[in-house]
Amino acid sequence: MKVVNKIDFRLVIEPESVPFLSEDKERAEWQREEECLNLRDEIGRKILNIKSMRVEHDTEEFCSFCNERWDEHEVGYPRCCSEAFTEWKKEKLSQEQS
Ligand SMILES: [Zn+2]
Repeated sequence: MKVVNKIDFRLVIEPESVPFLSEDKERAEWQREEECLNLRDEIGRKILNIKSMRVEHDTEEFCSFCNERWDEHEVGYPRCCSEAFTEWKKEKLSQEQS
């Protein structure tokens, strides 16, 4: 069975959107970077001007049988161990029968 763990928790803070964001993509990214840097400086001064705050995380997938990182063949079966393959095959057969 594939196990998904939450890892690398972090706090992500998004500044208010730039009022007059440039049509030019490169300039717009620069404006966003400036806004983030400005907000960072404001937080540094303990002034909160935050549109939203959320905690995000990455995920990592591993096998519950062998604890190896989850690795699927392009047709979908797990490649790490025979137990995972057997489980996958059972699930596939039961899906085909239903
Ligand atoms: Zn495995």
